[in-house]
Amino acid sequence: MSEKLQTLLAGRWRDASGPEYATEYPHDGSTVATLHAATAADVDEAVQCAERARQQPSWAGLKRHERAAILHRIAAGIRERGEELAQLQRLDNGKPIKETRALVASAAGTFQFFAAACETWEDQLTPSRGDYFTLSAHEPLGVVGAITPWNSPIASEAQKLAPALAAGCAVVFKPAEITPRMAIELARIAQQAGVPDGIISVLPGKGSIVGDALVKHPLIKRIAFTGGTTVGLGIARLAAEKLMPTSLELGGKSPTIVCADADLDHAVAGVLYGIFSSSGESCIAGSRAFVHESVYAEFKARLLAGVKALRVGDPSSESTQMGPLVNPGHRASVERYVQLGLDEGGQLLAGGVRPEGAQFERGSYYTPTVIEGLSNSTRMCQEEIFGPVLALLPWRDEADLVAQCNDNVFGLASGIWTRDYKTAWRLGQALQTGTVWVNTYKVFSVSTPFGGVKMSGTGREKGRLGILEYTAQKSWYWGLNESPMPWATA
Ligand code: NAD
Repeated sequence: MSEKLQTLLAGRWRDASGPEYATEYPHDGSTVATLHAATAADVDEAVQCAERARQQPSWAGLKRHERAAILHRIAAGIRERGEELAQLQRLDNGKPIKETRALVASAAGTFQFFAAACETWEDQLTPSRGDYFTLSAHEPLGVVGAITPWNSPIASEAQKLAPALAAGCAVVFKPAEITPRMAIELARIAQQAGVPDGIISVLPGKGSIVGDALVKHPLIKRIAFTGGTTVGLGIARLAAEKLMPTSLELGGKSPTIVCADADLDHAVAGVLYGIFSSSGESCIAGSRAFVHESVYAEFKARLLAGVKALRVGDPSSESTQMGPLVNPGHRASVERYVQLGLDEGGQLLAGGVRPEGAQFERGSYYTPTVIEGLSNSTRMCQEEIFGPVLALLPWRDEADLVAQCNDNVFGLASGIWTRDYKTAWRLGQALQTGTVWVNTYKVFSVSTPFGGVKMSGTGREKGRLGILEYTAQKSWYWGLNESPMPWATA
C-alpha cells in the first residue's frame, strides 16, 4: 500500500513545493510512496535556515563529546529501527533483504565510528620555528550539500551525514529522486537523537533542478557527491567557479585478475559475488574478469555452474541473491549494452535475457550475464553498464594484463586472486585503482578510506580522517616575544 511521505525541510516536516511524484517497487512496479519534489526556492530556504541554525549555540556551542553523544544516539536509533529500515530500503530500490540488512548495519556502524572520531580527533601543536608557538586547528566548513545515487542509499547517506555532523556542519541532502526514503528516515532519527531543527534538510527531486541549485548556492561550502561520472564532472566545473571543495565518488569498470595459481573455489565465488551481488548495480562491480589462460577453461566451467545456481527473484525472500534492476529504463540500458557486446563480436555464455515466469513479469528482472570473446578495447569492456554483466577475458603475459586493466578511464577498484603474496603485491602496486582487494572482493570497512582515481573521482570518504574533509584548516601563530617586533621600534 502506498504511503504519503513528507520531508524535513528547513526545520519543519512538510511537503516540498514542487510537483507530486511516486516511487515504485522494482519487484512489481507498485507505488511505494508519493511525495513532493523540491524546487530551487526550497533549496534556498533550506540552505539559509541551515546557515542560521549552524551558528546557534545549540549546535555551534556543542563540545565535540556532546556532538559525539548525538551521533551515538543516531547509531542506536538506526539499530532500533533496523528491520524496518531494511524493508523500506528494499522497497525503494529492490535490493534483496539480506543486502539491505547489511547496509543498515553498516550505516549504524558509520555513525558509531564517526562519534568516536569526533571526540578523539586532535588538532596539532606544530613544531615552533621562532618566538611563537603554532597550532593547526580545524573548524566546521559550514553548510554542506550531499547528493547521492539510488543504489545503496542508507550507506551512502550515512557516509556523508555522519562525518559532516561530527565536524559540526549542517547538511542539505539531495537523495536520488527514485530513492528518497532513507535520507528522510535518517533525518527523522537524527532529529529524535537531538540534532537541532534546521541542521538537516532533505530535498527530494530531480538532479537538474534541486541538485544544480544546491551546488550553485553561495552558502554551500562543500559538495559530497556519489553518482555517475558525467554528473560528477558537471559538479566539479561548477564547484571550480566558487573554489568549493568536493568529494566525487563516481563510476567504475573494475578489473578482477585470476592468476594461474589462484584457489579457484575462492576466485569463482569472489568473481560471482563481485559482479552479480546488488544485480551489478554497484560502482565497484568487478565487471571485467581477466583469467589466466592456463586455468581459463576450468574457471569458465565453474563460473557458469555458479551462475546457473544463482537465486534470482523476489527481494523479500531470505534466499534471494539477485533481485530486479532498479526500473525498466535502467534494464533497457543494460539490454542495449549486452546487444552492443554481441555486435562487437562477443559470445554469450550465460543470461542475456529477461527471466521467464509469472514472478518476474512485472519487475525489472534480468538474468546474470557472461560474455567472452571481446577485446578489452570494445565499448562493452570500457563503459560502465551498472548491471549484472560480466566480460570474461583470458590473459597470458603479466605486463600486457596490467596494461589492459589500466586501459580504462575509470580507476575505482580491482581484485587479485593468487596464492603468491609477491604476485599480489606487484600487481596491486601496478593497478591504477583506489582500492585493491586481494583474495577477497567488495568487502568494506568504515575505518578504511574509500574513493577512486582517474575518472572514478577525487576525495575520500570514510576513514578516521574523513571528518577533516568537512572542516576548514586554520593555522594559529601565538607570539611569545617579550619585546616589540624589532623593525617597528624607533
Ligand atoms: P547520477 O549521477 O545520475 O545521479 C546521482 C545523483 O546526482 C542523484 O541524486 C541525481 O539526482 C543527482 N544529479 C543528477 N544531475 C545532477 C545535476 N545536474 N546537478 C546535481 N546533481 C545531479 O547517478 P545514478 O544513476 O543515481 O547512480 C549510478 C552511478 O553512481 C553510477 O555511475 C555508479 O558507478 C555511481 N556510484 C558511485 C559510487 C562510488 O562510491 N564511487 C557509489 C555508488 C554509485
